[in-house]
Amino acid sequence: MLSNIHYMNTLGKSRRDGLKTLAEYENIVESSIATAKSAATEAGSALITIRDERLWEETGHSGFEVYFRSRFKFSLTSAFKYIEMAEVKGSIEDSPHTEKIQNHGQVKALSVIPEPERKKVLNEAASRGDLSPAAIKAVAAEIVSQPSPPKPPPKKKSEPKECDSTGYPIPDGVMDLWTRRFELKEIMLKLSEIKCRVEKSQKESDPLFSGITPSTMIADIEKIRQTFKWEVPYAVCPYCQGVTKDKCRVCRGKGMIGEHAYQVNVPEELKAIRLKGCKEVK
Ligand SMILES: [Zn+2]
Repeated sequence: MLSNIHYMNTLGKSRRDGLKTLAEYENIVESSIATAKSAATEAGSALITIRDERLWEETGHSGFEVYFRSRFKFSLTSAFKYIEMAEVKGSIEDSPHTEKIQNHGQVKALSVIPEPERKKVLNEAASRGDLSPAAIKAVAAEIVSQPSPPKPPPKKKSEPKECDSTGYPIPDGVMDLWTRRFELKEIMLKLSEIKCRVEKSQKESDPLFSGITPSTMIADIEKIRQTFKWEVPYAVCPYCQGVTKDKCRVCRGKGMIGEHAYQVNVPEELKAIRLKGCKEVK
């Protein structure tokens, strides 16, 4: 049985389920992993809360990943899989077939489909009686990539649009980039794993690694990881609004900028305008 904290994380509302403490969320993670594979969604949801609500800060660690490694025995790769499972299931929560999404292959197949299209693809695949990853991909290729009609329908104000991390609606022209941000996160995850491996070899004085200077290697990996982190799309570019991106020198044609660039480089006045824009669309 899955609890009601499952999907709330991706709905853009309060992530805390009542007044649960970090310890209670940690219990959810551990008991879910111990009980059943299908409960991974529950673990993922609890991990999202710990990460996004920054509950890990109570433990004095420098970041979520460092906290995770010292607290849990299962791998960070698995953790990100559970998180992805919870995020994807959150985006299809009101489909009657949500609970049939049980394995990571299905989640992967759905995660590359733009969020607004996922339910449609899932329902169509279910109606054909095959929810395998290959079947989901085939249905997506068939019904998602169809050319748009010559005249786009007038924009309806009531239609909810997916928003960036600042709450600003993402224009269609940059949606693909937004949905692909996990590709960069995956690379960052792999770099973290290499870093862990180097640290472990240092602790164990592993002769296989004796030619490597751990401190230099770790610093290099951190630097590369940081570069990728800065590239992860965070906000629609506040200068071109992701629309006139081809001429924009700030986002260099991407239409989106990373969290560091948004927090550090965007003037407060521009952020205030952005915030107002976010409120207006709500
Ligand atoms: Zn721009």
